[in-house]
Amino acid sequence: MGKIKVVGTRIALTDTRRVRLPPKQADPELLTSEHRQWRKAVCSRAGWRCEWVEGGRRCPVKAPARMFADHIVERRDGGDPLDPLNGQCLCGSHHTRKTAAARARRLGENYSVR
Ligand SMILES: [Zn+2]
Repeated sequence: MGKIKVVGTRIALTDTRRVRLPPKQADPELLTSEHRQWRKAVCSRAGWRCEWVEGGRRCPVKAPARMFADHIVERRDGGDPLDPLNGQCLCGSHHTRKTAAARARRLGENYSVR
């Protein structure tokens, strides 16, 4: 049997995205040693267990699941970034829900129909 000649594709790969997002970068405020200490204090106080309470029951998720130190009053809403009393330890699912709810509330306040 003869050899099959392999040729490279003649179709160039094209990036069809219309909008190119800038590379994702961590918020510099979250990279400081002060923030790391705050995060550790918040999550240690909670025993590295999610503090979300629903229906009178505390969420059972805990480390080694990835835990998030959440700003109860979000930084962009004026919450103190380094006050441990403005922090709670949340699992990924509850952190996402809480962040989305805060964002929706913020947008609702900024774009309310009059
Ligand atoms: Zn949770």
